[in-house]
Amino acid sequence: MRKLIIAGNWKLNAGAEAAATALAKGIADKHGQTDAVDIVFCPPFTSLRAVQSVIKGTKIGLGGQNLYPKADGAYTGEISPLFLLDCGCKYVIIGHSERRTYFKETNEFINEKVKCAFANNLIPILCIGETEQEREAGKTEAVVEDHLRGGLAGLTAEQVKGMVIAYEPVWAIGTGKTATPDDAQSVHAFCRKIISGLFDETTAQTMRIQYGGSVKADNAKELLGQPDIDGALVGGASLKADSFIGIIENSGAL
Ligand code: PEP
Repeated sequence: MRKLIIAGNWKLNAGAEAAATALAKGIADKHGQTDAVDIVFCPPFTSLRAVQSVIKGTKIGLGGQNLYPKADGAYTGEISPLFLLDCGCKYVIIGHSERRTYFKETNEFINEKVKCAFANNLIPILCIGETEQEREAGKTEAVVEDHLRGGLAGLTAEQVKGMVIAYEPVWAIGTGKTATPDDAQSVHAFCRKIISGLFDETTAQTMRIQYGGSVKADNAKELLGQPDIDGALVGGASLKADSFIGIIENSGAL
């Protein structure tokens, strides 16, 4: 039985320490000791420490939104996996569609980051998903397969079992549009088929695949109730304690 994982990607929001702290506290006060679902906060880098001090002693995990795949060196402006660890991170989001689009991140670079996360004992949350244009052209499965093959290249089955994939159709991110539960389920099942082919069936059945794209309290139950959907990566609705709590409470896991 896979445990659901619900992660909040705060993006470039809730950046001021006071706002990030208040948001973390609002959720931790209610669900800090909740064990039935893994809850993860991914605040902006500058708020990691403040958020960590709020969730210390709770069951909530901390994640970075990105990393640079080098431990140290002359890489002005970048964030090393060691800095994330030092701030208390357990997870790191890699290959979010905003990074693929705005920062031109390729599968190869994303794969380097995934490997770097493992080398530093961080759990990667690897984001994959098709654009609207690709979906309309009937390319959803081809894109998802390409992102999986590229992102998971060179990993071991043991590594893949412990990581998280976030299937996020790009057209559903921040738009209020969501994949229907049936459509999302069928892409998640397709992902497991690809992972089974690349590794083995046990790996495909063990690893967790989140859905992301306008998840809210009122659609969480149906989406997260699908057999191959193991939680959610949440953007907009993770920025208010009540709406994120609503997703946790409607997840069906409690
Ligand atoms: C995201 O950015 O990962 C995301 C899913 O955003 P939203 O929930 O706002 O669609």
